[in-house]
Amino acid sequence: MLDRASNQPELPPEIARRRTFAIISHPDAGKTTLTEKFLLYGGAIQMAGQVRAKGEARRTRSDFMQMEKDRGISVSASAMSFDFGKYRFNLVDTPGHSDFSEDTYRTLTAVDAAVMVIDGAKGVESQTQKLFEVCRLRDLPILTFCNKMDRESRDTFEIIDEIQENLAIDVTPASWPIGVGRDFLGCYDLLRDRLELMDRADRNKVAESIQINGLDDPKLAEHVPAELLSKFLEEVEMAKELLPPLDHQALLDGTLTPIWFGSAINSFGVQELMQGIAEYGPVPQPQPAEPRQIAPDEKKVAGFVFKVQANMDPKHRDRVAFVRMASGHFKRGMKLTHVRSKKPMAISNPVLFLASDRELAEEAWAGDIIGIPNHGQLRIGDTLTEGEGLRATGIPSFAPELLQTCRAGDPLKSKHLEKALMQFAEEGAAKVFKPAFGSGFIVGVVGALQFEVLASRIELEYGLPVRFEASQFTSARWVTGSKEAVDAFVAANKQHISHDNDGDVVYLTRLQWDIDRVERDYPDITLSSTKEMM
Ligand code: GDP
Repeated sequence: MLDRASNQPELPPEIARRRTFAIISHPDAGKTTLTEKFLLYGGAIQMAGQVRAKGEARRTRSDFMQMEKDRGISVSASAMSFDFGKYRFNLVDTPGHSDFSEDTYRTLTAVDAAVMVIDGAKGVESQTQKLFEVCRLRDLPILTFCNKMDRESRDTFEIIDEIQENLAIDVTPASWPIGVGRDFLGCYDLLRDRLELMDRADRNKVAESIQINGLDDPKLAEHVPAELLSKFLEEVEMAKELLPPLDHQALLDGTLTPIWFGSAINSFGVQELMQGIAEYGPVPQPQPAEPRQIAPDEKKVAGFVFKVQANMDPKHRDRVAFVRMASGHFKRGMKLTHVRSKKPMAISNPVLFLASDRELAEEAWAGDIIGIPNHGQLRIGDTLTEGEGLRATGIPSFAPELLQTCRAGDPLKSKHLEKALMQFAEEGAAKVFKPAFGSGFIVGVVGALQFEVLASRIELEYGLPVRFEASQFTSARWVTGSKEAVDAFVAANKQHISHDNDGDVVYLTRLQWDIDRVERDYPDITLSSTKEMM
C-alpha cells in the first residue's frame, strides 16, 4: 500500500500546491453545477453557465454527441485546471453513466482524491455507491458535498447515517445546516467557527460570512431566529457526541469523509468545500509502477496515459492521450521515452485544459493532467519517462460482460471496419476480438449502451453503417502461459480462439463449464478476466 501521509509534508512547493481530484455522483445530483461553481471561484470563467453553454455548442457538432445530450449522459471524460488561492486544482471529469464504468475506473487511477456529491433529498443513490466502491478499491480519500440544501431535504443525521451504513466510512461534519427547505438559512462552518448565510436573491453571490466566537456567542442569536437556533445547537451538541472529529490521517487513508452541506446552484457552501480540498486534500501521490514506485518529487519526468480520446476535433483523425504526470517538472518540447516501444517522443504541443479552453502546456508538474495529441502511438497504460524503463501499473482492462458480432453493412468494407474497431479498442471504448475462425469481429463492452454509441460513432466518423448481432459467445478470458502451452492450447481449441487488438490470445465461450474444463485440463494455462494495459 502506498504511504500517503509520510510524503505529505516535504514536497517542492509547486507540487505540494496541486490537488488532483474527480467528482463522483449519481446523475442529477449536481456535478455539472458544482463544476461550474468551482471554475467560477477558481477564476477560470467569468460567469457560471459557460461550461454548460460551451458543452452544448460542442455537443451539437455531431449526432453522437446529440445522443449523449438526449440521454443526459456524459460519455467522455475531460480534465480542467484552475487556481484557487495559492492552490492549483486539476479536476478530472468522470463519465456519470454506469455503462462506462471501465472508463471511470481508469479516470480514478489518475486522481488523488474524489469529491462525492449527493442530493440532500435522495441520499446515497446507486451510481454514487458504485463509484464509491471503485474509490475504495484504491483507498482514495473522499470529501463529501451534500447538495440541494435549499430544497426540502432529509434530516442531517439521517443523511450522515446513510453514508456511514451504506458506504462503511466514518463521516465527520465540516459544516452543519441551519433550517431545512424554505427555512434553510445557511450553515455553521464547524472548522472555522463562521456563520455562512445563503443569499437566495443572487445565485452567484458568495454567502455572507460572519465570524462567530464559538457556539455560545450571543452574536448567533442576532442572525438566527430563536426556534432554528435552539434546534441547531441541540443537533450540533449531539453531532459532537456521536460523530468522530476530523482526523486528517483517517481522511487521507480513505476511512473518514468530511461532509459539507450546501447548494451548488446558489453558490452556497462551494468555497468552503474548495477550502477543504485545499487544506485537507492529498498532495500528488506516488504512482505504483514496475519495477519500482514513482515518487512525485523525483527530478526526472514520468507520466502515464489513463485515457485516449479520438476525434475531439472531427476534422482531424488525431487523438489526444490524457497523461497524468507522476513526477518531475515537465517542459514543453521535452523528449520523453515511450517505454512500451522504447522510442523517443518529442512532446512539442502538449495541451493543458484550462477551464473550457485548450491551451498549450508550457510546463507541468507531478499531479497535472496534460493532453498529448498523437496519431495512435500512445495507448492507455503507456508510460513516458526520461529514459528509465518504468511501467505504470494498476490501470486494468476488464473482461467485457457483453459480446456481440459486428459486421459492416457493406461486406466489401470489412477492412475499413477493422481499422475503425481497432481505433476504438485502443481508445479503450470497447474490446475487439478477431476470431481465428469465421468472419466479422466480436466486440465486447461493459454496458449495452456502448454498442449504440459505437455504431453511431463508426457511422459518423468513418461513414460506415454497421450491424451488431447476437454472438454465440458470452464470455472472454485472456489466455496466458508459456509459449508452448499457449500454442498447444490454441491448436486444440480453435473454435474458441480469438486475438485482441494487441494480438493477445483470448478464449471465447458461452459456458462457465468450458472455463472450468480448461482450468482442469490445462494446468499450465491461466484464464483471466482482467489484463493489465501495457
Ligand atoms: P449532474 O447530472 O450531476 O451533472 O447534475 P446537474 O448539475 O446538471 O444538476 C441537475 C439538476 O439539479 C439541474 O436542474 C440543476 O439546476 C439542479 N441543481 C443543481 N444544484 C442545485 C441546488 O443546489 N439546488 C437545487 N434546487 N437544484 C440544483
